[in-house]
Amino acid sequence: MSKKATTRKKSSTGTRSGKPAETARAPQPELAEYRRKRDFTRTAEPEGGATHSAHKPAFVIQKHAASRMHYDLRLEHDGVMKSWAVPKGPSLDPSVKRLAMEVEDHPIEYNTFEGTIPQGEYGGGTVMLWDRGTYSYGGTSPDPVEGLRRGYEKGDFKFVLNGKRLKGSWALVRMRGDRPGKPQWLLIKHNDEYAARGSDVAADHQTSVATGRTMEEIATAARSPAAKNADDSAYGRLTARRTR
Ligand code: MN
Repeated sequence: MSKKATTRKKSSTGTRSGKPAETARAPQPELAEYRRKRDFTRTAEPEGGATHSAHKPAFVIQKHAASRMHYDLRLEHDGVMKSWAVPKGPSLDPSVKRLAMEVEDHPIEYNTFEGTIPQGEYGGGTVMLWDRGTYSYGGTSPDPVEGLRRGYEKGDFKFVLNGKRLKGSWALVRMRGDRPGKPQWLLIKHNDEYAARGSDVAADHQTSVATGRTMEEIATAARSPAAKNADDSAYGRLTARRTR
């Protein structure tokens, strides 16, 4: 009955001893839009507020069967997950430019979320962890942190993925647009050893990188009462495949 998400509320905003001071970003105003859109008493998605880990920045791609199927690409940057909805998903073919619509920043804890957002809630539908890992700066600036920050601001974000399914050098290039709201970008694979012309990597992988489940299996688990509890806490414990 009581939802896990409510009990996790803001409990992790404190600075833990031993963590570098600059990693604490407690209120995270960047997440205001994310939080405004969601009712955390109804969805098991995380509310956010955990402090930033000082390791290599994380990336995740979540396949999301919302009103339209799409892939959410999220790259950790300045304490949040910068996020883009990519309708067709990534392509390893350097001649293919995939539309990537920037959406609201997400909390870092979202990186382990797999499950089903209730219908009627924002983004209602099934979410699969499609790929994840870390990334590094892919440009030429001698200071990688500054290079990533400048790249994001300039709309020429170069990065190297080290995921399970996606590796190598990529770019997100912001398009000039006159439409209001978040900008549109293009996701482009650079020509390197991981490029593969004519391939369709999104179609090649139909299961969760975390649990091995298909979209249908994730959706079915959410409908079965026995799996409901597991699904509510899925974002905290995805590594072990649960069978109850
Ligand atoms: Mn989405």
